Amino acid sequence: MKKADIVLLKYGEIALKGLNRPMFEQRLLKNVGKALAPLGKFSIRKSQSMLYVEPLEEGIDMEIAIERMQKVFGIVNICPAVSCDKDMDSIAKTTVECLREMDVEGKTFKVEAKREDKQFPLNSPQICQQMGGVILKNVKGLKVDVHNPDILVQIEIRKKAYIFTEKVSGAGGMPVGTNGKAALLLSGGIDSPVAGWMIAKRGVGLDAVHFHSHPYTSDRAKEKVIDLAKILSAYTGKINLHVVPFTDIQLAIIDKCPKNYLTLIMRRVMMQIAERIAKQGHAQALITGESIGQVASQTMESLAVTDNAVSMPVFRPCIGMDKEEIVQISKKIDAYETSILPYEDCCTIFVPKHPKTRPDIAEIVEAEQALTNLEEMIEDAIAQDEVIVIQPE
Ligand code: ATP
Ligand code: MG
Repeated sequence: MKKADIVLLKYGEIALKGLNRPMFEQRLLKNVGKALAPLGKFSIRKSQSMLYVEPLEEGIDMEIAIERMQKVFGIVNICPAVSCDKDMDSIAKTTVECLREMDVEGKTFKVEAKREDKQFPLNSPQICQQMGGVILKNVKGLKVDVHNPDILVQIEIRKKAYIFTEKVSGAGGMPVGTNGKAALLLSGGIDSPVAGWMIAKRGVGLDAVHFHSHPYTSDRAKEKVIDLAKILSAYTGKINLHVVPFTDIQLAIIDKCPKNYLTLIMRRVMMQIAERIAKQGHAQALITGESIGQVASQTMESLAVTDNAVSMPVFRPCIGMDKEEIVQISKKIDAYETSILPYEDCCTIFVPKHPKTRPDIAEIVEAEQALTNLEEMIEDAIAQDEVIVIQPE
């Protein structure tokens, strides 16, 4: 295809209805701008339910630009297009040039036209008919197939005429920032980055909280979490990653609480700390990577006990997914290779041999009474919270 000089971004219908539309479009425009800024100067404008992205400098790699736009939530389709003047001669000339540069031998085609500009003298069926004839006459090797064409030649008449044959899928969802913010409990595993990605896809900005048990967990484990947050930030924009020291609390729990409740009490304290950090950052919910029955601390009874430690809503988008389904998303979002690097998590060290799968909340609350200075330890941990601002690269 002739080199695309403009990219059309289509954002579908879902969020466009109602009063939210301008807010949605403004945010999408801003998010696309941020995703592209490191590559050079672009003009990004909105017109008739689409965004138009044009490079304003020579030498910008549009393939990389498209890859970046594929990570911006809210975009359904990305169409690299060639623009030309809005008259049938120019459209015919440009379309033929485009197709001649493609390998079309033995292939079939169909023309689809859309006329947003109702002043244009031909209507859509007329454009299709006329252009079909022009293509057959001028591009060798192509045949028409209106049902199942190899090449769909799309012509849109808007401010200018746009011609394209390629539609790259976007990430879908809603632009990050249109639905508030939530705090993701981010471990170094496979599930929590996927959980964060899924909630961000619905337009939610992310903060992340990671609990670190130095020296039982290494600096490498922390670096890995920073890398995962960077991978997520390509989709979500800036993430404030809070690294919270958890060793003292963990040792106190191990020292003072019954072995079979260690993990659950630890998870409850993590949730409480995360909730406080979330509130400070104006996040409205917590996100975890839990899935029913995956481990003892993720039975329904255990999840209820974890929820009971906080008052904020807890979102667990992986809740009904099999590990394999989570892995698929992890691979799709480029987190998998990082997630599977060996690491120690503070949940995986000191794991009790016989964790309770049917915990009793009264027993747990009772057991927690042994942590007499818990409030102080929580305040201490939060005071030592290291905030790492993760920006997309
Ligand atoms: P993941 O693959 O995300 O590590 P997991 O299946 O290994 O999850 P657990 O280790 O039981 O499950 O943790 C359950 C959830 O608790 C994680 O998905 C994550 O949201 C949170 N979590 C676990 N460890 C940490 C940690 N060190 N810091 C922050 N959150 C954590
Ligand atoms: Mg884990």
